[in-house]
Amino acid sequence: MSKVRVRFAPSPTGYLHIGGLRTALYNYLYAKKHGGEAILRIEDTDRTRYVEGAIENLIESLEWAGISHDEGVCVENGEVTQRGEFGPYIQSQRLDIYQKYVDELIEKGHAYYCFCSKERLDNLREEQRIKGKVPKYDGLCRGIPLEEAKKRIEAGEDYVVRLKLPKDKDIIFNDLVRGKVRINSDEMDDQVLMKSDGFPTYHLAVVVDDHLMGITHVVRGEEWLPSTPKHVYLYECFGWDAPTFVHLPTVLNKDRKKLSKRQGDVSVEDFRKRGYLPEGIVNYLALVGWSPEDGNEILTMDELKEKFDFDRVGKSGGIFDTDKLNWVNSHYIKSYDLDKLAKLSIPFVVKSGLMTEEEINSNFDWFKILIDTVREAIDKLEDIPEHIKFIFGDIKITEEDAKSELAQEHVPTLLDSFIKIVKAHDEIDMEIAKGLMKEVQKDSGVKGKKLYMPVRAAISGNVHGPEMQNIIYLIGKDKLIERAEKIKAEIC
Ligand code: GLU
Repeated sequence: MSKVRVRFAPSPTGYLHIGGLRTALYNYLYAKKHGGEAILRIEDTDRTRYVEGAIENLIESLEWAGISHDEGVCVENGEVTQRGEFGPYIQSQRLDIYQKYVDELIEKGHAYYCFCSKERLDNLREEQRIKGKVPKYDGLCRGIPLEEAKKRIEAGEDYVVRLKLPKDKDIIFNDLVRGKVRINSDEMDDQVLMKSDGFPTYHLAVVVDDHLMGITHVVRGEEWLPSTPKHVYLYECFGWDAPTFVHLPTVLNKDRKKLSKRQGDVSVEDFRKRGYLPEGIVNYLALVGWSPEDGNEILTMDELKEKFDFDRVGKSGGIFDTDKLNWVNSHYIKSYDLDKLAKLSIPFVVKSGLMTEEEINSNFDWFKILIDTVREAIDKLEDIPEHIKFIFGDIKITEEDAKSELAQEHVPTLLDSFIKIVKAHDEIDMEIAKGLMKEVQKDSGVKGKKLYMPVRAAISGNVHGPEMQNIIYLIGKDKLIERAEKIKAEIC
């Protein structure tokens, strides 16, 4: 078998959809598993949808996720550039190539010039709609002799080039996920291949490029499945071998509708901004439509490269389940390198207003313990402020459980003892924090729940929370005393 070559071929329309990232991921995993190459091609033939800066944004999102391409479009020193011997990899830079191949199709009689006006086509479509027919070009220009068509073009008439589909021909191809697909050409349209602005349509460009770039596997979303018979026929017209096709199930929301911007986050950027880790997103996305054979769902990129294959990709849509994403992501948050996790957390804490960047940087060791203390409780980094805010500023005892802990008879003397012990230390470092409750126990004679719960409630406002020694250390001497004295004054 020849070396596997796959491509991810997004259109630069603004941002990378999370479903697009999954397509890129499956391409990448398959290529790496088979020692092949992954190519990044930009399909920008629809100029009306082009968005400035979209290519940079796409590449940044891919790189963030850890998906690299061996060949194609890339960003170097902030500039979009290209690498590889099959370029250019941006379709708008390949117009002369498409022109050559469209001319070949016309000469061979597989395509024809069409001069129908937009108005005629609109009317035709409307008539067909009223009659309940599927809209389809009626073939009016199919019979125009080539010489006559060329003269009309020379005279300045506007035209497009259409594929001349044969009548009643079965087009058959095999898809690694969908199996055998068969469609009759009578159900298909004479697809426009070249538009009046001299740009090819997606259908022509994708076939020419996949062939010239030596693509062995076309892996893309199932929304392209209806287009594939046209592509297969084009391969036949050119006399080329078609690649293997793999159409991936659409990423759906819980209502089984396509995941769309209207219902919330869909771009990779959105998920990144909410503090999902690239490892969490990649691991989770791999599971949307594919399942590992052994059922172990926590998989790093390297493990995915080893285990992934198309034979376990399902036909039906993959449901995007935020709860499961959170579960997978929280797994990575728990085991992440602390220094890295703390650095990634900085913008989330700064945004919440709890600390400034300068404060964090000058107390970075303290900040690391802060993040380490709450990482067990969060799914994503945007959850951090909610879990750390009790460390800062004033606390209010609102919880009934906390109130009843503090209402116990022994609490005032317990708090006195706590305040005395804290005051006896110049500073509460981690070592002292670890032994502090033992000291209070010795001094007050109170132990177990009766010792821990009221103190916890008094200093954190809550009866549940992270490890006591950590919160004692994080709150620090002055605030511990201040809080305990305030509560004591309130309950006495
Ligand atoms: N340019 C298409 C897109 O934006 C890619 C289709 C394909 O992979 O063939 O999704």
